Amino acid sequence: METVSCTLCGSDAFSTALTGIDRDWGSGEAFTVVKCSRCGLAYVNPRPDKEEMLKYYPAENWSRARNRVPERDAVISNAPWTVAAAERADAIIRLGTKGRLLDVGCGDGFLLLYLARQGWDCYGVEPGEVAAAYAREVLGLKVSTGTFEKADYPAAFFKVVNFQHVFEHVSDPEGTLRKAWRLLDKDGRLVISVPNFGSFDRWLFGNKWVGLKLPQHLFQYTRRTLGAFLEKAGFEVCEVSYRSYEAADTMYYSESFRHWLQDLGLYPRKKELAAERTQVAQARAEPGPFWKRAAHFAERAVFKSVGFVADRLGCGSTMTMVARKNER
Ligand SMILES: [Zn+2]
Repeated sequence: METVSCTLCGSDAFSTALTGIDRDWGSGEAFTVVKCSRCGLAYVNPRPDKEEMLKYYPAENWSRARNRVPERDAVISNAPWTVAAAERADAIIRLGTKGRLLDVGCGDGFLLLYLARQGWDCYGVEPGEVAAAYAREVLGLKVSTGTFEKADYPAAFFKVVNFQHVFEHVSDPEGTLRKAWRLLDKDGRLVISVPNFGSFDRWLFGNKWVGLKLPQHLFQYTRRTLGAFLEKAGFEVCEVSYRSYEAADTMYYSESFRHWLQDLGLYPRKKELAAERTQVAQARAEPGPFWKRAAHFAERAVFKSVGFVADRLGCGSTMTMVARKNER
């Protein structure tokens, strides 16, 4: 474990925001998120060093890629992949232009596949070998295996650089943004989606909030702290939007609620409860008993309504920022 200073302002003064456990890999280890006393940035401290971090990214958690699921059967958030991809691509599609696009940490590539079919010239970089190989071999995309840090592209090569729920994992946010700045052409746009630490559900669920993903999410951004990082790296924020649900799911509310039930012993702690539900056919074949469907329907109705309002008030579960390069 390493102790770190605030990467945004350099201060060593902080207070504890919350302590939570690693829920994904069942280690049950506790981690602390601190809040910088000077600038308000929330970050994991102390945090696993680069070597230790590998254990929280097990070799392959990519069930679609591992099972080589064919495109027509791919499901994201319990919906056909095209539905989820359309939502995730929304901020990019709305830019109205098309050109070369880089998806950093593109995973198994479904967002790229969607954008490629909308006319974008798509590139991806992904450290997970199984996921990257699937994107290349099954989906036929230009995806390289490796980290963004080491990826080699010409300066001003891209119209868009996209970080879809990736940036909160990055250990050097400023260096990453400066690299993205160099790769973007002068009219280029940076698109970043992250969990919103300033969201209503984070406040509601505290250390049970699913957006924490400890310790993989090294930083917990708010509109203010992500905006400050972008400005520091030479960007100007031109749009901020919020989203509390995706496709068929009210993801953050429902999953955080499950964490809460699990901690009370009222819900099974299954590691891959939903992870293996990769096929539309499979999901449709198991509608479950009536009471369960009714409970799910009621839960969705409540959480969707709350999420709808939260999104409009600027405290949705996730936030997407679009930024342009400042001339310098
Ligand atoms: Zn700070």
